[in-house]
Amino acid sequence: MEIIDGKAISQQIKAELKAAVQFRKSEGKKIPHLAAVLVGTDSASMTYVQNKVKACEEIGFESTLIRYDDSVPEDILLAKVESLNQDRSIDGFIVQLPLPKHIDELKVTQAIDPLKDIDGFHPRNLGNMVVHLPGFLPATPAGILELIRRKNIPTEGKNCVIIGRSNIVGMPLSIMLSGNSNPGNCTVTLAHSKTTNLPEICRQADIIIAAAGQPGFVTYDMVKAGAVVIDVGTTRIEDPKAPKGWRLAGDVDFENVAPKCSMITPVPGGVGPMTIASLMMNTLKAMELKGK
Ligand code: NAD
Repeated sequence: MEIIDGKAISQQIKAELKAAVQFRKSEGKKIPHLAAVLVGTDSASMTYVQNKVKACEEIGFESTLIRYDDSVPEDILLAKVESLNQDRSIDGFIVQLPLPKHIDELKVTQAIDPLKDIDGFHPRNLGNMVVHLPGFLPATPAGILELIRRKNIPTEGKNCVIIGRSNIVGMPLSIMLSGNSNPGNCTVTLAHSKTTNLPEICRQADIIIAAAGQPGFVTYDMVKAGAVVIDVGTTRIEDPKAPKGWRLAGDVDFENVAPKCSMITPVPGGVGPMTIASLMMNTLKAMELKGK
């Protein structure tokens, strides 16, 4: 059994991106510039955004953080999105989700210029992905694919069960892994909250990708011996022994499932760092796509 070190793989990707930045600098070319919009003070969102800004600093990208109170009106946020669309110095930007309830997330996502949509959430980028046109792949699924690629995990002809069908993780991942590509060519089952007999379905899987946001949901009895298990879940759960009073829990009962797997990702230190690495790759791509 191997515990996949997503942090180490992401460090490798960041080192490659840093070298690309150095090369661009030596040629007098523009340095990629990422902007992140953060609304409110949700502590998980603040951590995600801080980690993205920190990754930019490590690589040598420029970054700009724009913050608003929870009460920011939707039209102010949309105006900021439009100004970032127009700002030629910004290559790509994200609006950190979730947004407060009075703001329509889909409206905001759709307002982002698809050529600057480095999260890959815009319907045009999702559509491009479906018909294999160039565009941005959503950061978490793309990070998972990169992890599979770099660990040489065989996918062709394999049974893959993805648990969770969200627009940002499960749904796009099911399309990417079932496509005629490498990694890809899996026989994918996309499971969700209405799926019946999930343990039985999971037991057929060579690869299980858990993205349900349910701590410890994938248990020993659901996993075939030798399966690859990728845990996307990140839920903060109370833990009086942890320095912050909480810890991150994945969707997999890691302690009991790990010994049964051929490979497994931990939480934290698995998919999370790959998501950030993938966002950084998309930022470089955003600049290159515009021929800068
Ligand atoms: P979501 O809440 O939008 O979707 C959850 C999905 O899980 C839904 O499709 C639902 O049908 C399914 N589901 C819920 N309970 C289920 C059950 N009992 N059986 C089968 N399916 C069930 O969540 P999301 O945004 O896709 O995120 C999922 C998890 O991944 C969360 O823990 C989130 O924090 C985490 N996440 C991590 C990263 C990362 O970079 N590590 C990125 C995105 C999301």
